Amino acid sequence: MRFRTFKKGVYLPGNKERTASLPVEVLPLPRQVVLPLRQHIGAPAEPVVAVGDEVLTGQKIAEAKGKVSLPLHASISGKVVAIEPRPHVSGELVPAIVIESDGTERMAPELHAPPRLEELSAEQLKELMQEAGLAGMGGAAFPTHVKYDPPPGKKIEYILLNGAECEPYLTCDHRLMVERADDIILGLMAMLKAGQATKGLIGVEVNKPDALAALEKAATGLPIEVLPLKVKYPQGEEKMLIYAATGRVVPAGALPIEVGVVVNNVATAAAFGEYLRTGKPLISRLVTVTGAGIKSPKNLEVRLGTLLEDVLNYCGGFTDAPGRIILGGPMTGPAQYRLDLPVMKGTSGIVVQTRAEVEKPDYGPCIRCGKCVDVCPYNALPNYFGLYAEHDRLAEVEKYGIFDCRECGSCTYVCPSRRPLLQLIKDAKRKIMASRKTG
Ligand code: SF4
Ligand code: SF4
Repeated sequence: MRFRTFKKGVYLPGNKERTASLPVEVLPLPRQVVLPLRQHIGAPAEPVVAVGDEVLTGQKIAEAKGKVSLPLHASISGKVVAIEPRPHVSGELVPAIVIESDGTERMAPELHAPPRLEELSAEQLKELMQEAGLAGMGGAAFPTHVKYDPPPGKKIEYILLNGAECEPYLTCDHRLMVERADDIILGLMAMLKAGQATKGLIGVEVNKPDALAALEKAATGLPIEVLPLKVKYPQGEEKMLIYAATGRVVPAGALPIEVGVVVNNVATAAAFGEYLRTGKPLISRLVTVTGAGIKSPKNLEVRLGTLLEDVLNYCGGFTDAPGRIILGGPMTGPAQYRLDLPVMKGTSGIVVQTRAEVEKPDYGPCIRCGKCVDVCPYNALPNYFGLYAEHDRLAEVEKYGIFDCRECGSCTYVCPSRRPLLQLIKDAKRKIMASRKTG
């Protein structure tokens, strides 16, 4: 049987067997959480609490600052002990609200479920998306409500949920689809109403038959189609997913709305569904903790702001001195070298690789085999990006269209000379952006 997919791409070892069948466990209350004010794209939130304040679980502790921004809620009850710069996954120090747990689970009294979906207008639903603090939970962390205001002349036709989870190792979306399909479908129905869209689509790779079955059951009789997708990387990349699901091609540099589509992750839809059902804003998320370097891999529900150290300790700690810790999947997630970083809205995984997995011989010169060009789903020229970026020839990399690259990492994966193409691409983009800023 042929399944929907996109052109090019790579077939990766899934490495999902450690956790794919493990039900979600809830991480016990952490002793402290560190909640960065910047955990979404856009303006950081602005604190509405002060050091010394007692806060309750779910209480708003920082306000959205403008349209492209989100509020932040206390993920535990306790005392605000600091509002100060703390280590952030970006590598910078970012202002954060630090709460020390009071050891209880006291919920804010103002939390209550909104009116039923039938009683809510599209405008009210968009306000609720922002009120709930919803950001893209697949990693991008873009404020969800912003996608639901299409530019003049554009109309949303499809809301497409990304349940592909094509990154190796990660299984938290898989478990979410199996265990919380009803919340995903409720969230998607609300998204359809918010966007005044005609149809919901959910793309899921066929290596998750139980997830496909659970979603199909939950969506029975609704204007939602569950689409089995071929297992291929980067199947879950936004533009590849749109092509696989609808056959539409989003032009280079354009957004999905250009072809009438809004894409959200299944976890974002589930968080919205849970909020509509219970009034609980986004204060926790599912995280896959896995890799050969961790003793007891798990799928965990983790309070936002929990430090990596606490999560990893709950999973039994390291098998040996770790070689690399990756936040998210190994193809696109950044490697981290400290354990005092918090889980944030976009943290889908913590992958611990051993030294043996990481230690590789140095990379060699480009042998012009063309394999990287063959797999690039964006028809880019990663070999040229690498060659020019290596020598800081930024005008040339720009001329060859480096900004069309969506940083999926497929080129790096196939390169027989082990050239760090994605790293070279990211560095070159950063340098070009910095030079544009300084004029
Ligand atoms: S050039 Fe960019 S989009 Fe193309 S394969 Fe490499 S990382 Fe992916
Ligand atoms: S895959 Fe590596 S060696 Fe082959 S053309 Fe691309 S950069 Fe060069």
